[in-house]
Amino acid sequence: MKNLIVAKFGGTSVADFDAMSRCAEIIINEPKIRVVCVSAQSGVTNKLVRLTQADVTFAERDNILAEIRAIEYAIVERLGNPEWVRLALENLLAELKDVAHSDSLVGSMRLKDQIQSFGEQMSSLLFAEVLRQQKIHAVNFDIRQVLKTDANYGKAEPNIELTKLQAEKLIAPELEGTVFVTQGFIGSDEQGHTTTLGRGGSDYSAALIAEALEADTLQIWTDVTGIYTTDPRLTKAARPIAELSFDEAAEMATFGAKILHPATLIPAMRRSIGVFVGSSRAPKEGGTWIYKKVDNKPPYRAIALRKDQVLVTVKSPNMLLASGFLAKVFGILAAYKISVDLVTTSEISVALTIDNPANSTHSGLNKAVLQELSEFSEVTVEENLSLVAVIGNHLQAKSGVGGRLFSALENFNLRMICQGASAHNFCFLTQSEDAPKVVEHLHEQLFDSI
Ligand code: ADP
Ligand code: ASP
Ligand code: MG
Repeated sequence: MKNLIVAKFGGTSVADFDAMSRCAEIIINEPKIRVVCVSAQSGVTNKLVRLTQADVTFAERDNILAEIRAIEYAIVERLGNPEWVRLALENLLAELKDVAHSDSLVGSMRLKDQIQSFGEQMSSLLFAEVLRQQKIHAVNFDIRQVLKTDANYGKAEPNIELTKLQAEKLIAPELEGTVFVTQGFIGSDEQGHTTTLGRGGSDYSAALIAEALEADTLQIWTDVTGIYTTDPRLTKAARPIAELSFDEAAEMATFGAKILHPATLIPAMRRSIGVFVGSSRAPKEGGTWIYKKVDNKPPYRAIALRKDQVLVTVKSPNMLLASGFLAKVFGILAAYKISVDLVTTSEISVALTIDNPANSTHSGLNKAVLQELSEFSEVTVEENLSLVAVIGNHLQAKSGVGGRLFSALENFNLRMICQGASAHNFCFLTQSEDAPKVVEHLHEQLFDSI
């Protein structure tokens, strides 16, 4: 749809009434924003995840429910307490309490997704009301009617065709004169059960909706003024990047730049939708534009850091001169839907890294996988590792890249050094405790002199 902008507001952007009011101003100033996708208020999804964990006590559960209620009510009270919003919120809180007390919760990935969906359901309810009080014709729309997924709870895969059909049927005809406020992160499967796209998934939701409605632009509003040369929390020297290509931004997201969910750029790339990333606190400061092609392609663009990596080494003397060993290892991982990031091989072993994020109900490595691998090999698992990725252009063709990176890092232990699969990245593992220093040193070496 021409002239349509889909805007996503992240957790800190909708954290409280004042933050929501700043987002409302962005929408008032840009009439092309017709679809708004919100995250849960900052911190709420972590609390919801905690409710689903086996070791949560009764007292802690009640505390968490009370904390969530307080976050929501702090906003309702600033809204002048419209009775119907209060009622709608009470219904959601009652439903949440029911699921949180269900005996089957700990063993059910489906109920875990249902619990996690309440954050976005509540924030969209309240944000739509904030907009209406600013005289915007806003409706709170349940995205589960549109964003259809498989039933892989915790990390559901969208059904692109069905999502498009539903968006064309239920959203497109009503867009004239209405702002749809909807939930990021959640969808529903064929049975109508609630699913989630994985932590940080609201960016991906917004991109999928933008694709389904053929929007011109996707705006990602967050707490930083665009995408920086590295996470600004890691070094003060980090600086914003004005323009990035889809390929560069996708590599950054894949390798841990939390500012974008790893899959966000996939729908944008399919339809060449321009993506803007900026701060809802400082919208006038501009941000980063991501396009299919950009003129400036520097060899070094950014550094990404992904924590919580597990290194698995699978060793078998039978691998020597034998075929099919790697297929067997990867077949097992695929059967458990475990995705692998870095891979290196020797004559009798293969080493690979797996993401094992904290605060996620979608577990990376589990006992059953290790058991199956151990049936034909010796398996070693190492934790407390972080993946560092240098992102840039033509890294495979430029001389001196290795020398420049390694000389900056001569005092650190680097593992799984990988370059070759992409011209856009150079990756390695390091001990998690060293990771912040490694990024700081590399940043100084690659960017401080420019
Ligand atoms: P939201 O809740 O809006 O989705 P996130 O916390 O998921 O926000 O993402 C924004 C955060 O991403 C920033 O506060 C910043 O610390 C982090 N980040 C990681 N890498 C980068 C980067 N290269 N540029 C900017 N921010 C980054
Ligand atoms: N609320 C979800 C999370 O915290 C999704 C998101 O914020 O993007 O993971
Ligand atoms: Mg995010």
